[in-house]
Amino acid sequence: MGYKMVDFVGAGPGAEDLITVRGMKLLQEADCVIYAGSLVNPGLLSYTGENCAVYNSATMHLEEVLGVIEEMEAKGKHTVRLHTGDPSLYGAIREQIDALRMRGISYRICPGVSSFCGAAAALSAEYTLPGVSQSVIITRMEGRTSVPEREKLHRLAVHGATMVLFLSSGMTAKVQEELLQGGYQGETPCAIVYKATWEEEKVIRGRLCELCKLAEENQITKTALIVVGDVLGEDYELSKLYDKHFETGYRTAAGTGAEES
Ligand code: SAH
Repeated sequence: MGYKMVDFVGAGPGAEDLITVRGMKLLQEADCVIYAGSLVNPGLLSYTGENCAVYNSATMHLEEVLGVIEEMEAKGKHTVRLHTGDPSLYGAIREQIDALRMRGISYRICPGVSSFCGAAAALSAEYTLPGVSQSVIITRMEGRTSVPEREKLHRLAVHGATMVLFLSSGMTAKVQEELLQGGYQGETPCAIVYKATWEEEKVIRGRLCELCKLAEENQITKTALIVVGDVLGEDYELSKLYDKHFETGYRTAAGTGAEES
């Protein structure tokens, strides 16, 4: 039996067992689940109880979502708003949160495993390799949602850092052009990860100069991330963290005899 609350829950990137334990428990307790049907694995709904009301927000607009939440709230019921990956990235939660605040409705947020983490796992990648890149730029190609001028791809490309592009796999020609224009070399390794952690997962690796061709050949236009950067290549330096000559808060340099705390 539920209680009066709205929980925004990150569903994880796809695989049913990649939701957090907390997120799963919230689904088990929920009286109502509103899930982002375009990307959330419907298999996650099997965690809900038998009397749980389920709504697919893919076919609803903001007012409809809020309407359902308000109705549940009036009945003293617990709603889970299930968003793909982690809700903080391209999740459109801010407008919902503000609407709940205005209505005096209590809410909490449960983080999730973002698809960019699922993609790293699929690629066996470390996004932050010493001597290669120590930053990850999470961004998108401009679509119907505009991107501020100072964040246009060619300007972010100047850094040559690891870059993960959401919502852009249907615009690979433009992505390729802007990234090359901005400063990445054509030979920079890149990858397209389709449906990371789902059964249908597909990993396509190549060079930035052939990104568009790779997307076309594999007919990928959505539900994919584009990863670009030399961290997908062969060269890097070993980490300081596990260097036996390097002292950390937990370990002294080799030969000094101190113990790990
Ligand atoms: N909050 C989500 C992102 C939502 S935006 C997260 O943290 O992952 C939707 C975009 O995310 C999609 O267009 C796609 O680019 C990406 N995406 C979501 N799930 C994905 C998956 N399993 N594999 C690859 N890309 C995914």
